[in-house]
Amino acid sequence: MPSDVVRIICPNLRCKAILAVPASARGKAVRCRQCGSRIQVPMPRTQPAATPPADVPAAGD
Ligand SMILES: [Zn+2]
Repeated sequence: MPSDVVRIICPNLRCKAILAVPASARGKAVRCRQCGSRIQVPMPRTQPAATPPADVPAAGD
């Protein structure tokens, strides 16, 4: 599966269509092909919510 495609589920409970949109559409709104709802494409999860422990010294030995 190409990684440059984002799959999102239509929030319309009567639709719930799975849409494959290009990664370039992240942060934008796309329109559901089935019901026409506007769906916000989530941004990638690469943003660190918590700083990774890059500074942790090697466990004492
Ligand atoms: Zn829909």
